[in-house]
Amino acid sequence: MKIIPQHHEVVVIGAGIAGATITNELLLKGQKVCIVDAESGPAKACSSHAFAIAHPHIGRGSPRLLRLTRIAFLLAAERWGGQWQQHGLFQAAKTGEIFDLQKLAEHLCGLGLDQAIARAVSADEALALCGVKRNGTWFSQGATLNLASTIEGLLQPHENLTCIWDLQISGLKKEGNLWMLIGRDKEVLLSARKVVVAASLETKLLLSSIGIRLPLRPVRGQLSIFKIDAKNKWISYLPKAGICGDGYCLPAERGFFSDGSARWIVGSSFDEGEDDLGARNSSDDFNRDLAKNLIACESGDTSALEASGRFVGIRCVAGDRLPIIGKLNQHPNIFLATALGSRGVLWSALAAKIIRAQVLDEGFALLERLGFATDLLAALAPARFFAGAALVPAAPLAALASNSKPIFPPDPKAR
Ligand SMILES: Cc1cc2nc3c(=O)[nH]c(=O)nc-3n(C[C@H](O)[C@H](O)[C@H](O)COP(=O)(O)OP(=O)(O)OC[C@H]3O[C@@H](n4cnc5c(N)ncnc54)[C@H](O)[C@@H]3O)c2cc1C
Repeated sequence: MKIIPQHHEVVVIGAGIAGATITNELLLKGQKVCIVDAESGPAKACSSHAFAIAHPHIGRGSPRLLRLTRIAFLLAAERWGGQWQQHGLFQAAKTGEIFDLQKLAEHLCGLGLDQAIARAVSADEALALCGVKRNGTWFSQGATLNLASTIEGLLQPHENLTCIWDLQISGLKKEGNLWMLIGRDKEVLLSARKVVVAASLETKLLLSSIGIRLPLRPVRGQLSIFKIDAKNKWISYLPKAGICGDGYCLPAERGFFSDGSARWIVGSSFDEGEDDLGARNSSDDFNRDLAKNLIACESGDTSALEASGRFVGIRCVAGDRLPIIGKLNQHPNIFLATALGSRGVLWSALAAKIIRAQVLDEGFALLERLGFATDLLAALAPARFFAGAALVPAAPLAALASNSKPIFPPDPKAR
């Protein structure tokens, strides 16, 4: 007897922050969605992270990255503003460079960041705001999001939502105008008209089943949860806001532990090409050094930072360090949201809007209002990795909402 697989209009593969946010966005638009994950529930992989920070990028990176993170931050703040912990974040100016407050203020303004989002501050002002005496930028809306509890909220029971756990998809196959989701033994598990692949690194394997090669790599990261004795000298140095730069830390929580010790979360290591989830003492040591630099406490004795817990996760990154978000031109009705790297909060908020517009064949009016343009869509599109990507001229955003196949030149400097 032939078993007829369960059919859904849209199936999302992967219930991390990318897949869950896209699913929720489609539900909000009245769509019926089925989300599947190989694990026993959502948020079991990298998105089990409880301490992810969010702020726009302001460095000297690619101009596209700067524009994209501004838009993504605005979207993330709008989506999660109610549940993220807004404690402010401080980013110190690079040491060794002459600091010019006015010049930094102009740079931030040029990025389209108003003072309510990013403000140039002197060392004295920074001391008052976060407890660290260094010149730099203050993100008053900078925040931390618990990805796991956010995902739980995004996937609340809903009449249009089907969740299937413990279902590993091993490949995709086209039959007529439907996509078959194939299991390990080549059996058809589900069928769908549209498939969103948000399976982090596994996206590479899934797409190889339909002849698509994506340049995805793992980057292991470990965040350390330090415990610091209430009488230790460090207590007076600990920051009262989050600090970011080379690594990041959260505001220290004095008296967090029952014996009065403080909790201070600092991270994270960046182990290129590694995918080992085991905790490492060497990563805690790495984070101790980051901690000293973040709060400019060069003389601090790091042995006082006792590792009392860790979060270890495997980031997925693309060759050019930008996320991969958008439809696959080679195969209609396959959409990708992967390679979120270290910016899961920002990129998932942006992915939800882009994928929704493409799945529903809508326009990008909302994104355009925030400054989103064709070159940014092209910088994220899977098409940037395929031969001939630079040869096709740009088209207006509206054209991209349809099933036309414009492809745009990649930005070689994007990181
Ligand atoms: C140490 C560390 C610190 C970080 N700090 C920050 C930060 O401060 N701010 C920030 O924004 N981001 C941060 N990140 C990054 C953030 O955690 C990730 O970008 C984000 O969690 C990735 O989400 P995702 O949904 O793409 O992937 P995942 O959360 O990995 O989800 C992918 C899902 O797909 C499922 N899956 C995979 N293959 C299959 C298959 N074949 N069939 C079915 N299901 C499948 C998996 O089970 C998994 O649930 C950090 C990461 C690390 C490691």
